[in-house]
Amino acid sequence: MSCAFDLAHYRELLDAAKDGGYAFSFFDHEPRPGDIFLRHDVDLSLEAALALAELEAEEDVRATYFLMTRSVFYNLASATGEAAVERLRALGHAVGLHAVWPRAELDARFDPVVAWHNPDPPYMSEPIDGAQNVMAPPFFSRDRYRSDSNQHWRSGCPHEALARGDFDWLQLLTHPEIWAYDGSSMRETMESMLAAERELRWRQLDEDRIDLS
Ligand SMILES: [Zn+2]
Ligand SMILES: [Zn+2]
Repeated sequence: MSCAFDLAHYRELLDAAKDGGYAFSFFDHEPRPGDIFLRHDVDLSLEAALALAELEAEEDVRATYFLMTRSVFYNLASATGEAAVERLRALGHAVGLHAVWPRAELDARFDPVVAWHNPDPPYMSEPIDGAQNVMAPPFFSRDRYRSDSNQHWRSGCPHEALARGDFDWLQLLTHPEIWAYDGSSMRETMESMLAAERELRWRQLDEDRIDLS
């Protein structure tokens, strides 16, 4: 099995967690043995988030999507953004806030759970008023946390350890853009994403009544 950052291996990762007997859980109870908390920080693309969300639903898997209200890459308040939240909920996923420090302003779109975007150490694991910080106790433990940041697993791809049931529980952070777009490096993956977005932008210009003749 090759540990590519693509949808085929993402599906294998989910299957490995199933083989290991893990239960796909939300950040709404203290971690119990056998819990896997699938966390997606949506940094760049709602389209990528939905691609992963649909795949997970096919696999009968639930995840928590952390969405930004202050992203330069997408607008959660647009019709597309509202439809994305609605679709994630309809598929049975949870939605948390991917906040830009120091503002963690929750509203009705979000469950009371927050993941800071690109956090710095001083506040990364500090408690947040009225919400659970996913990088704070009880959900964060260095040995029970894996992240795919920039297509790099610090401790290796966890699929084998998951299949063996090595973790008593695990928070698994993945970024949908990394998996949904093709490329064998982060740069290539971003090029695929930008090519897809160029097409999308043309359609949006047309819908915005821009004369494209
Ligand atoms: Zn792997
Ligand atoms: Zn982020």
